[in-house]
Amino acid sequence: MGEHVIIGAMNNPKKEVAEQIHLFGESGFDFLELTIEAPNASPQKLAAAKKEINDALSAYNFGVVAHCPWYFSVAHPYASIQKATVEEFRRAFESAALFGAKKITIHTEWAPYIAPERQVLVAKTIETIATLHKIAHDLGIALLVENVSEASFSLDDFRNMFSELEVGMTLDVGHLLIEGEGKIEEYIRQFKKNIQHIHLHDNDKRRDLHLPIGAGKLDVPKTVAAIKAFYDGTITLEVHSEDIDYLKISRDKLEICWYGKRKHLQDKKYRSL
Ligand SMILES: [Zn+2]
Repeated sequence: MGEHVIIGAMNNPKKEVAEQIHLFGESGFDFLELTIEAPNASPQKLAAAKKEINDALSAYNFGVVAHCPWYFSVAHPYASIQKATVEEFRRAFESAALFGAKKITIHTEWAPYIAPERQVLVAKTIETIATLHKIAHDLGIALLVENVSEASFSLDDFRNMFSELEVGMTLDVGHLLIEGEGKIEEYIRQFKKNIQHIHLHDNDKRRDLHLPIGAGKLDVPKTVAAIKAFYDGTITLEVHSEDIDYLKISRDKLEICWYGKRKHLQDKKYRSL
């Protein structure tokens, strides 16, 4: 484990997708995490720009990992609204398949306080995820569930879900940083077999700021070492900034922690030849 790290970036759904792929490709990223999300990356918009996007992806030999909007409910108290949301999930999954994605991330309930009680929240979440798992599976896509907060779905809830459903996990490191000391390590220890994708970003341990790594309170070397000890896959730097430089700095920091400074500089030189 830990031999290679595959580093991706996520499109900003307010912008055109193809031009961002060019930006990420020119900046040395390895893949696109395609968030399928209104206004400019909805399934309809992506279908209309299919050729342009596929051309951009092949120009950089980019694979796609897909991502659904964080605000799609999975435990909505109104059955008709949940049903409509499942249909939107379905459209997103079909759109992901159109670009060859093999993995798609969904989130546990973003508004857990709308459930009348915790038991109902957890039961409804698992029920919706079971439905989505089947839809994704039929399209040949692995469904990954991202941790949002312990209030939404706790470590025990994840453990129970994994015993019932064959879904994977997207470990969101920034979200766990807010949950308190030792949570990142605890989730890794419990779910190393389930984690198939990682989101890495920083914050002040209080708000979900999606900062460049090293700009907040994340112990970057310690966290990267903990990931490297069990993992060899895709990591998306989920840094929300208008300025690509912050994303590049985050990538350099991740590579230095992963490979050591010497190898990082050699690789960088090689890439610029
Ligand atoms: Zn995330």
